[in-house]
Amino acid sequence: MCGVTPYDSGHMGHAFTFLMFDVLVRFFEAGGTRVKYVQNVTDVDDPLFERARRDGVDWRELADRETKVHVRDMTVLGWRPPDKMPRVSDEIPRIVSAATRLQTSGHAYKTDALYFDTSTYPEFGRLSHRSRRSMLRKLREEELLGTVGPGAKHDALDFTLWRGSRPDEPAWPSKFGAGRPGWHIECSVMAMRYLGPQIDIHGGGRDLVFSHHESERAQSESLTGKSPFSQAWVHTGMVRYQGRKMSKSLGNLVKVSQALQRAPAAALRLYLVSHRYRSDWNFEWAGLTRAARFIERMRKLLADEARAKRPKRAPGRALMAEFNAALADDLDTPRAVRALRAAVRQKDVAAVQAMREVLLGTAALS
Ligand SMILES: [Zn+2]
Repeated sequence: MCGVTPYDSGHMGHAFTFLMFDVLVRFFEAGGTRVKYVQNVTDVDDPLFERARRDGVDWRELADRETKVHVRDMTVLGWRPPDKMPRVSDEIPRIVSAATRLQTSGHAYKTDALYFDTSTYPEFGRLSHRSRRSMLRKLREEELLGTVGPGAKHDALDFTLWRGSRPDEPAWPSKFGAGRPGWHIECSVMAMRYLGPQIDIHGGGRDLVFSHHESERAQSESLTGKSPFSQAWVHTGMVRYQGRKMSKSLGNLVKVSQALQRAPAAALRLYLVSHRYRSDWNFEWAGLTRAARFIERMRKLLADEARAKRPKRAPGRALMAEFNAALADDLDTPRAVRALRAAVRQKDVAAVQAMREVLLGTAALS
């Protein structure tokens, strides 16, 4: 999945996305499916360089620091760590070779930069269900339209595979000139290196559907000639705060570290996974407080049971069936949380433990 661009990690939007994928991975593994989980770290990207420039720090330092924040937060929140977290800066030779192959096979052309030629991929727009007009509108909104014309892009939808770097950005040698990769090709190359030409599930936040995943799909399938690049695409909703999308530009980020000052990690995790992965929702402190009360009840139940030293019993079948059916139904975590609440009410400790492992991972109860 697409992981962080490490320049401003650690807010609720990130935590929500990564915990949803954590529940998904844990649910598969609890059912006996072996999962190989790769999470990309985009440490070569415009927003990271802009932030480094603004703060007058080295981009590598900033990326290292923010990647550590991300891993620290997710460790506290009890994730099952990805099997691999590749960084773009370690993968440049492979990216250059993929870009070269795209050019040789006629899917890319070089003018002022190396561009992917979207006219060679008729399905462009199919993943995001967008018309050409709608794609152009989105690119304009994000200021990614660029220049079209002789010596530049042939078409406004074409996107950069390789470009020259600004003086304060890193540059790597390549046959297209010294420079750096475009964002989309980075993720395609890392996904294919560690998971192969076709993968089962590819995910990220919903803001990545277009243009990032649309472009990833186009260039990956053009590279390998294999379709689909990913069997399923899973996108998480946006977290709002005080009615507005949580974002750096609005300055309304709620950080994981802030929330952990008010509630145990398991409570924050429970509160986040009480929302449907694909929905947008509003972060409210009262919701976190309610989750903390429930976690305390659960902690007491488990502590009492540990003291009682009763022989272990199998979890209630009806409870577990409901829990598993909920998650099998397009990862309906709110319904799975209701099953966990029922298990606590019924004092079915074995069921509580099994459900806790999937929903709350190793997050601490107090
Ligand atoms: Zn990505």
